Amino acid sequence: MGPIEIEKYRSRINKLLFNYGFKPDDLIPVEDVQEWCTKRDIEEKNPFRTANCVKETQSGQYKIIICKKITCDQISSIEGAMICREHRSKFSQLTSDWLFLKHLLLHEIAHSKGMGENDADIWAFSETGIEK
Ligand SMILES: [Zn+2]
Repeated sequence: MGPIEIEKYRSRINKLLFNYGFKPDDLIPVEDVQEWCTKRDIEEKNPFRTANCVKETQSGQYKIIICKKITCDQISSIEGAMICREHRSKFSQLTSDWLFLKHLLLHEIAHSKGMGENDADIWAFSETGIEK
């Protein structure tokens, strides 16, 4: 899988965002998520972070920060985290770049709803149509 270029999937992404109450510009593709966060005094310890969900202090709107280009290494690292959370069989059903990206975006949307890592994964799999 990958590398994944976000802009290639823009129209599909915008539809997905719309379905969950987000606007196209609520997704902010950046070169480096940690650098983007650090510049704005948002703590981000992971230099390899692929995506993050942050709440804008003024508007209260959630924004999803995501790497413009998601590398194969980043995908492997996310896979590893999911396997640790015992989602190996579900992860194996993310059989295309788009399905991986869709799950990642839904995972970040789940954080805007207050879910933690594991609940965010489970909810995102379920919204992707993967139940077991
Ligand atoms: Zn997360």
